[in-house]
Amino acid sequence: MDQVLFKRFGYSAFRTGQRETIQSLLSGRHTLAMLPTGTGKSLCYQLPAYLLPGSVLIVSPLLSLMQDQVEQLKMRGEKQVAALNSFLTFEEKQQVIRRLANYRFIFLSPEMLMNKQVIQALSRVQLSLFVVDEAHCISQWGHDFRPDYRLLGEVREKLGNPLTLALTATATAEVRKDIIRYLKVDHMEEWIFSVDRPNIGIAVEHLSSQNEKQARLLHLVSQLQKPGIVYFSSKRATEEGADWLRQRGIGKSAFYHGGMEQEDRILIQQQFLRGELDVICATSAFGMGVNKDNIRFVIHYHLPAQLESYLQEIGRAGRDGGEALSVLLYVPGDEELHSIIAEGEFPSDSQIIGYLSSSDQAEEAKAAALELTDIQYRFLRHYAQEALQKEKGNPAEYVISKRQKRLAQKEEKRLTMLRWVWIKQCRRKEILRYFEEKLENRPADCCDICGLNWEKYNKQFDQEENEALNWKAILSSLLQIER
Ligand code: ADP
Repeated sequence: MDQVLFKRFGYSAFRTGQRETIQSLLSGRHTLAMLPTGTGKSLCYQLPAYLLPGSVLIVSPLLSLMQDQVEQLKMRGEKQVAALNSFLTFEEKQQVIRRLANYRFIFLSPEMLMNKQVIQALSRVQLSLFVVDEAHCISQWGHDFRPDYRLLGEVREKLGNPLTLALTATATAEVRKDIIRYLKVDHMEEWIFSVDRPNIGIAVEHLSSQNEKQARLLHLVSQLQKPGIVYFSSKRATEEGADWLRQRGIGKSAFYHGGMEQEDRILIQQQFLRGELDVICATSAFGMGVNKDNIRFVIHYHLPAQLESYLQEIGRAGRDGGEALSVLLYVPGDEELHSIIAEGEFPSDSQIIGYLSSSDQAEEAKAAALELTDIQYRFLRHYAQEALQKEKGNPAEYVISKRQKRLAQKEEKRLTMLRWVWIKQCRRKEILRYFEEKLENRPADCCDICGLNWEKYNKQFDQEENEALNWKAILSSLLQIER
């Protein structure tokens, strides 16, 4: 293991949880690993791929994440990588399917799980490992429930119960139980590591108006060490936020959201990675798979929908182990935005009825005619099929009841988040408590309630100004003049 780690990946030591997870797999045990964000979960399946005889299949919920992982592997010189997703043309997909057994890594998007041809082709491949990335998506209690993920258990069985690895960064005990149940595995060895990120200071600031919040954002972004991410909860707000910051002198700011053309998104990601941008104003679409380890701050301009996504998002800071800060800016009433957003995520009554009554139309035409978003469509398709399978007399009623249940769950999570904003005790301890963990070692810079040394996060001096001031020193060192 150590040799492969060094030879293939160039790393000299394993990070928390990697060794245990890989060892568990190599001794043939189905494994559920919960490792904190940014530790390097991908290595847990990438390394065994070089020690096991067959292919590794990875089911991954986000196309951008999948593309990123494929690129990373290719950059390391791995050529036997394929990704089966909706980016491929029909011919490309056929070509991948024909060559399937030749790949060491096969990435699969959840919608492909329903494609019979793909599953048939996969059943002929010698699979050494079946990986479910972001496995919390399987549980409706998970923060990012993807109905298609429910098919994973069946697919696993069809593929002959291969050795399985479920990976996640944020799953409560309830979600972990669901993961095991839905994957239809008898037993999984669980490797659970703390979700805590001690090098990230946690702050919440209560402000009295939106104007005050804007001013505070500008102040923070000007003062803090960069690069950083500012999260907003709507696409439009990211564009306005970036414009607003640029107009006020934060020139290297840009926005990022899922509604942008793919090329533009890749461009912004790359500029950020190369250090050409200081601040990204983004929706939650930004971050997963962005391997930038020196992010110094994460600001939430809007209240996150739940503690799980908050933790994932702040976890993008300080991956290099250096000090980082997260600040949540809150104005009373901010929470109302979420009810509106949550409602919009699910299909309306008329969309549900419209979908169910147009059974003779092709799926895509139906989705377009009813103006369904991807998420609405996935939800509808899944529960409409379930209603049919369960022979529900009134499928519309069934789908509506499912929607109401999901809305109530979201509301519950939103309230937990809101309570956390208002608490008067250690914020870190509370987050850990939510994940059924105890805070063992409180870092010196813990949270706004325990106390934070803000100075530490401020930029000491601007790099360029500093270089300009020090031109004499730089010149003498270049010329090797002894002073
Ligand atoms: P996540 O846990 O968020 O999925 P990734 O798997 O994308 O994280 O890995 C995050 C970064 O850590 C990557 O750049 C990866 O190359 C790096 N990394 C992973 N394992 C190690 C290691 N043992 N030593 C050093 N860097 C590592």
